[in-house]
Amino acid sequence: MPTETLDFRSDTVTKPTPAMRAAIAEAELGDDVLGDDPTVNRLQERIAEMLGKEAALFVPSGTMSNLTGVRLHCRAGDELICEAGCHIYNFEQSGYAQLFGVSARPVEGVAGVMRLEQLEELVRPGDPHFVRTRLVCLENTHNRGGGKIQPYDVVEAICRWAHDAGLRTHLDGARLFNAIVATGIEAPRWTRHFDTVSVCFSKGLGAPVGSALTGPRELIDEAVRHRKVLGGGMRQAGVLAAAALYALDHHVERLADDHANARRLAEAIAQIDRLQLADDSIDTNLLFFRVDPALGTAAEFCTALKRRGLLMLATSRTTIRAVTHLGLTERDVDRAAEILRDSALAGG
Ligand SMILES: *Cc1c(COP(=O)(O)O)cnc(C)c1O
Repeated sequence: MPTETLDFRSDTVTKPTPAMRAAIAEAELGDDVLGDDPTVNRLQERIAEMLGKEAALFVPSGTMSNLTGVRLHCRAGDELICEAGCHIYNFEQSGYAQLFGVSARPVEGVAGVMRLEQLEELVRPGDPHFVRTRLVCLENTHNRGGGKIQPYDVVEAICRWAHDAGLRTHLDGARLFNAIVATGIEAPRWTRHFDTVSVCFSKGLGAPVGSALTGPRELIDEAVRHRKVLGGGMRQAGVLAAAALYALDHHVERLADDHANARRLAEAIAQIDRLQLADDSIDTNLLFFRVDPALGTAAEFCTALKRRGLLMLATSRTTIRAVTHLGLTERDVDRAAEILRDSALAGG
């Protein structure tokens, strides 16, 4: 394998930059389970303020953040409504069902985007035959939708309807900052429609670990209990919070570079025979493309790419995902395009 491997599998593969490591080294620490870690406290205040929420809780992962969010809104016998391709429904082991007795009602969207008309009939009657419809979860940007930004008016309409129907709303904003930077719509405008909002520091923002759950003070105080029983109480977690704070200071605006790089890669892929973009419009930093079966399965094609020094992720028999991030430059994108072209020409 070539010495330099280009890793387009995910924006989670980034490693802390030297400056981020310096911030980690200098972090002031305490025991966060006792509420004593000043760096964690600073991060929680900072992210709550950025998102226009009263309070925030630092948690180890986006999965725990979403799970805690669902736990705040639902009890056993409740149902959440979500988009069929979303992360909460597909990639978190249905933790809400395993641990809390909550069921999910998936709704098929287009590139991860549901329409209000699909939801209006879904609230179950208050009759003992039925689960209680309780929560609507949206994902922005939508991962499997190809990094799709939820249209702002759709978010607004769905959340207004949900609240009018007596439901709560949770946003899986693992990549919310990508949507904020790409649209120029400020964070509090996106988040004000949701009771709770989860964001990840470990995706495009480039921190090694961590997410935050944000919302009203009263709910976040309760979330501390749920995090503890899930095993997410951390001690000198300021080493991690320092990285997240550094990322908020230095890695938000630059997400625009990732978006430009993803579009550049998409333009190159559009020119390659036997590779086809799943969606011509690339909103942010994720793109999906299909591999002609003449080149083998997506997994086989990924193996061929790997031999040439390029890592991408097969997400189905025919589909590959590529993700841009702060560890990849425009030059890396051009090199990746070259490898894709060579591999497609060579027949995989
Ligand atoms: C990555 C991701 C998460 C959380 O994943 P963790 O690996 O648990 O941090 C949640 N939602 C979406 C959309 C994601 O892409």
